[in-house]
Amino acid sequence: MARKMCPKCGSRDTAHILWGMPAMSLELEDELENRRVVLGGCCVPMPEPRYHCNECKDDFAYRRIFGGIIKRFHCSIGGFFGRNYVCGFDIEKYGLCLRYVSNEGIHLDVDEDGFFQSDIKLEIPLSDDMITRFTYDVMKCYPDEWKKKYIDKDILDGYSWELDIELDSGEKIASYGINKEAPYWKSLIKVLKKYGIPEFE
Ligand SMILES: [Zn+2]
Repeated sequence: MARKMCPKCGSRDTAHILWGMPAMSLELEDELENRRVVLGGCCVPMPEPRYHCNECKDDFAYRRIFGGIIKRFHCSIGGFFGRNYVCGFDIEKYGLCLRYVSNEGIHLDVDEDGFFQSDIKLEIPLSDDMITRFTYDVMKCYPDEWKKKYIDKDILDGYSWELDIELDSGEKIASYGINKEAPYWKSLIKVLKKYGIPEFE
């Protein structure tokens, strides 16, 4: 089985965390030796992380329950030269509608002005049910476990991206990158495409 990718550093040298007293077996011994499994101990923290990264030593994939929905979502990517893409929704401001804009070289936003200026724009209506599923799909990309920033300093002219999420519980998630993607960025883009966003890279 492929190992799970760490949302912080992108390494696949990760291990499943086994909590509690393990029932030792030859198979488990083998997995412990290869660090496909690590022992978490008897005190299970809340929330409980399910994986450990052997590379950056962080635990991840916390077993968390997001009872609510994402009420504000904003995601953008753009080159210092080239196309910019922005998509998002703000249920309180604009209702149940996923907005998408894309254009060449102009700073844009999904607010009224930016939306108006753009050369490609879309408004995708969302139902309550879709917002719930969208929340679930987005949270499966572990955005709450992403680093605050991902930066590659060795590239001068490149691109940058931003992700801003607000859940209706009030929890806020924010991350950005310059010339470097978050490990689960591509998974997030797949989610956006699933909900009708045509192009985002
Ligand atoms: Zn890691």
